[in-house]
Amino acid sequence: MTGSRFLLQTDGCNLLVDCGLFQGPKALRLKNRDSFPVPPSTIDKVLLTHAHIDHTGYIPKLCKDGFKGQIHSTHATAELCDILLRDSAYLQKEDADWANKKKFSRHKPAQPLYSAKDAIKALERFEPLHFGQNYFFNDNLRIKFKDSGHLLGSAFVEIKTTRDSRPRKILFTGDMGRASRPILNDPVQVYNVDYLVLESTYGNRLHETGNPLEQLTQVILESRERGGVLVIPAFSVGRTQTLLYVIRELEEQGKIPVMNVYVDSPMAVNATEVFERRIPDLDLDSRLAAIQGKKVFRPKRVAFCKERKQSKVINDVKSNAIIISASGMATGGRILHHLTRCLPDKKNTLLLIGYQAYGTRGRSILEGKLSVKIHGREVPINCTVANIDSFSGHADYEEILAWLMGFNRPPEKTFIVHGEASASASMAEKIRSQYGWDVVVPEEGASFDLDL
Ligand SMILES: [Zn+2]
Ligand SMILES: [Zn+2]
Repeated sequence: MTGSRFLLQTDGCNLLVDCGLFQGPKALRLKNRDSFPVPPSTIDKVLLTHAHIDHTGYIPKLCKDGFKGQIHSTHATAELCDILLRDSAYLQKEDADWANKKKFSRHKPAQPLYSAKDAIKALERFEPLHFGQNYFFNDNLRIKFKDSGHLLGSAFVEIKTTRDSRPRKILFTGDMGRASRPILNDPVQVYNVDYLVLESTYGNRLHETGNPLEQLTQVILESRERGGVLVIPAFSVGRTQTLLYVIRELEEQGKIPVMNVYVDSPMAVNATEVFERRIPDLDLDSRLAAIQGKKVFRPKRVAFCKERKQSKVINDVKSNAIIISASGMATGGRILHHLTRCLPDKKNTLLLIGYQAYGTRGRSILEGKLSVKIHGREVPINCTVANIDSFSGHADYEEILAWLMGFNRPPEKTFIVHGEASASASMAEKIRSQYGWDVVVPEEGASFDLDL
């Protein structure tokens, strides 16, 4: 889970698919301090499935440590990385500064993994490619990005070679999206896959079947009745725009009253602008709304807080408002200040949406802990905690099995990755028993000889 990275060595070319940062509990985060398993200078190209930090966040460090090649992704992913990698550097510096100020770091002084300058240098290595087009890296090696429906710009990375005039194909899913979700296209069906590298975040779980719009309506109306504020930890890129889109829709349909919506994140403004520029990459409903002249991601009374000063104004907001802030699993960022203020008051509502990784504050709160540690202090949880899981950008195991059912033939081997151990094992077992495919769950650092 997190820290997604795969090295594919083929035809004299070393391709790194995804270059993620480890996130979550400290033991995992400390892995970011290990030296990279292969010298970064020996990697020729990096290919990115999508912009999330668990797939891209190590890039500046990789470049800092000697990677000199190109980084290929879709255009939207490149634009989102421009925001996310700068933010990642900023968050690391902020955390290090805070740790140094409060002196609760074991490293003295605490050092960020990379700086904003490192991130900007890495961004210069991006050479974005279009969805659905073949790109030849050499006569015998071509790649294609196919919409995976997980985030704006997210793609399956398809790598194709020819062996004895037989085409051979490996497909990396990155994170698997879902059909019929707001904003995003459905994941593309793929064919003739020889090797499949499949994520398994929800390998042992199913999403609630509920309609996320109806559930959100209920949470918003109940929060208004309690008279407090509704706080929603959400990634600034992706989940925040989905929420803004849905809140605008609900307002327009008269299902919720128009209320103040604060988006407290230094990068949500920029991210929303990327989404507005990239509407052609989004689903039909979003494109239609744009054609009808709607501001797709702007509820009537939305305020974006870029500066700390604006953010502090929200501290005086005590009722009838929605506060959306990052990070989505409450591991860092401005949401922590809102949680410190809002969790202790029973009038308030905290809404968790999407996946909460093991070891995060979001997960602890979801599991019903009575208090949570923030900036070294225990904060009691007296507010109402709501959870809507159906906004998740990850396919659950049934949705994955349904997508696999569309394959015209079984892959020679399917690798189950990017999940907690129990989720990966469970996903593997389900594919074996349902379809009889050859499935493995690789250990971290394992390598395989492929006929590719
Ligand atoms: Zn993702
Ligand atoms: Zn991921």
